[in-house]
Amino acid sequence: MPIYEYISESPDDPARSCRICAQGFELRRPVSRAPLTNCPLCKKPVKKVISRVNTPSVTKPLSISDAKKAGFTVLQRRDQGVYEKL
Ligand SMILES: [Zn+2]
Repeated sequence: MPIYEYISESPDDPARSCRICAQGFELRRPVSRAPLTNCPLCKKPVKKVISRVNTPSVTKPLSISDAKKAGFTVLQRRDQGVYEKL
C-alpha cells in the first residue's frame, strides 16, 4: 500500500490547520481510494506533498495517541529518508 504525504494548505494559520497537518503527515492509503482532501483530525483542507524539496526539518512533539485515534500511522522523521514507526 503506498504511503502518501499530506500537509495543510495553510500550515501557518492555526485556525486552518492542526498540529498534525501543519507539519505534514503520512498516510498509508489504497490506490483505489479517492485522494485525501481534508485532514482526518481537524477536517481542514490538506494537499498531497509532491516533492520533498524544502520540507522543513523541524521536529515538533505531537500527540501520538491523538494521531493514532484519528487513524494515522505515525511516522516521525529521524533523518533524511529515515523513518521510525512509533
Ligand atoms: Zn489537521
